[in-house]
Amino acid sequence: MEDRRTKIINDKLNDLSKSKFRSSFHLRKYMIEYIDDKGFNTILKHSYDFINERLRPSNISNDGKQTPMKGHPVFIAQHACACCCRSCLEKWHHIPKNKELSDNEVNYIVSLLIEWIKREYKNNLVIDKEKF
Ligand SMILES: [Zn+2]
Repeated sequence: MEDRRTKIINDKLNDLSKSKFRSSFHLRKYMIEYIDDKGFNTILKHSYDFINERLRPSNISNDGKQTPMKGHPVFIAQHACACCCRSCLEKWHHIPKNKELSDNEVNYIVSLLIEWIKREYKNNLVIDKEKF
């Protein structure tokens, strides 16, 4: 049975999968390898670091441009999950701009990103197996 938090995450990922733009983001092979190399705990830590540094403050001078489109798997997850900037957070997740994010909000964002990354990771393993 899924708890309330899991249901919120699942419902949101389902909504995002219906967006042509959001569902166009996928992890590349080098990102899967990076996860293999670093492990999920490190990816979790990086997620907190990025969200705390780049999204948490009430005023962000480069809002809308703070999340690269390549490089780190968490960046890709942020675009796929509409957690890339404060405008997208407001539009998709109803988290208002111009205020500092709460611990709860940061935890919610990170849970969403990690779940998205885990699903992408699993899909990749399946695709890899199909080649043989
Ligand atoms: Zn955005």
